[in-house]
Amino acid sequence: MARGLVVSVAADEGQGVLEADFLVVGAGMAGMTAAGFAAHHGASVVVVEKGPKIGGSAVLSGGGLWTAADVETLRSVNPQGDPELGRVLIEGYEAIGEWIESTGVAISERRPSDVIQGFASWGRSFDVLGYVQRCSRMVIDAGGAVVTGATVQQLIVENGQVAGAVVVDRDGETSVKAPFTLLSSGGFQNDPVLRKKYIGEHADSLLVRSNPNSAGDGLRLGMSVGAGISPHMDGWYGHTVPYPLQRFTPADYLRLAQFGLSPRSILLDRAGNRFIDESVGYYINAQMVSRLPAGHALLVFDDTARAEDASGFGAAEQIDRPREAAREGARVAEADHPGELDAMVKPWGFSGVATAIEQFNRDLANDTLSPPRKRNRCPLRKAPFFAMEVQPAITFTMGGLRIDGHARVLDERGQIIPGLLAAGVDAGGIYYMAYAGGLAYSGVFGMQAAENVLSARS
Ligand SMILES: Cc1cc2nc3c(=O)[nH]c(=O)nc-3n(C[C@H](O)[C@H](O)[C@H](O)COP(=O)(O)OP(=O)(O)OC[C@H]3O[C@@H](n4cnc5c(N)ncnc54)[C@H](O)[C@@H]3O)c2cc1C
Repeated sequence: MARGLVVSVAADEGQGVLEADFLVVGAGMAGMTAAGFAAHHGASVVVVEKGPKIGGSAVLSGGGLWTAADVETLRSVNPQGDPELGRVLIEGYEAIGEWIESTGVAISERRPSDVIQGFASWGRSFDVLGYVQRCSRMVIDAGGAVVTGATVQQLIVENGQVAGAVVVDRDGETSVKAPFTLLSSGGFQNDPVLRKKYIGEHADSLLVRSNPNSAGDGLRLGMSVGAGISPHMDGWYGHTVPYPLQRFTPADYLRLAQFGLSPRSILLDRAGNRFIDESVGYYINAQMVSRLPAGHALLVFDDTARAEDASGFGAAEQIDRPREAAREGARVAEADHPGELDAMVKPWGFSGVATAIEQFNRDLANDTLSPPRKRNRCPLRKAPFFAMEVQPAITFTMGGLRIDGHARVLDERGQIIPGLLAAGVDAGGIYYMAYAGGLAYSGVFGMQAAENVLSARS
């Protein structure tokens, strides 16, 4: 381990032992928030990051720090999520924004962002890369270390309490001893075996839209010392993306995700049937597509939906999605009349598009739609008409370690495991078949985790 970085953290070089107030596993949104906040308030922190750089999925993200406007709104859209974790998120939203602002990075004012998810919410945008770098600087300035290319082999347990971890890097093994260890490794979306086990049979073949390192290490480490897991381990957040794709790299993650278009379209199975209220959540659409026997679906929309999507989201992105998809070699059909689409999608194994458009428009007018349509109740009428074959892509898992509102990991009986904390995606249960922000949730619980360290020092 890069011991040269550890200036004032007590170290026993001979035995490869470091001591700190706080060990953080994973340098993404939750980990760097916890580390920076704790270091800013005087704690010595060691951050261990598996990847070559800090930032995780946070630095690939759109930088939208958003969540539901209040506890009642979150409860109504997310009735199966943990109410206590939800309350902490909402009550901590202002504080995470203020903390980010205090680091000096660019962050916008708080604005209503209801248009994106369809329920009352607040949003701010910030410079995520600048933020994690500032947090890293705070850790180092406070005498701690941020080590990349290192991973945690096992947790150290002493006297019934988690007391740090054995960290492995190119220099070998180091024991990092700390009264608090935070698991913030970003979920298990990169492990097909865990996906299949917890999400379902179909999930091992999912395309992944995340940093490549979040592969369930936090979950495994926590469970190795008796941590419980959250309810609803099968929940996940993701998008539909065009099919087929020759490549799918981080540069494609935002522009190829159909988050604005899928709730405005109709989604059809191979026989041309709708199977979900598409307007409720693009991430629910992705989950439902993954459960279809074919694992693919057809996104059918008109030019009004295309244009609204291209100019939506407060100008965060101006993207002509069908054209971007076609440019990547995906299956996109465009026609002046719905009837022409049928012939175009037949070679892909789909049928019934024209009938589905006609039926959708008619049932919408008669208010007899089944499945129903809560939002975006616009008929598909304006040529050209489009059909895009889509597949699901997972961004992060929603099930994970069981925690309380202070980010303390709980065992299967709900008892606190002393010394062990989890935040961000590693902590499960806040959402199920609903979503109200990833960065805000990870940041708020990163701060909660750091508070444990700070109160123990005071
Ligand atoms: C393309 C994209 C766009 C997004 N846009 C938004 C948005 O606009 N708004 C929003 O709210 N959310 C967004 N998200 C989601 C958001 O990025 C995540 O919810 C958030 O980053 C989760 O924080 P985290 O700390 O749990 O995980 P991450 O930020 O992913 O960090 C986890 C870190 O742990 C590291 N790690 C993994 N295993 C180990 C190990 N064994 N040892 C050490 N380190 C390990 C990983 O390498 C990674 O650096 C987006 C995500 C993506 C991919």
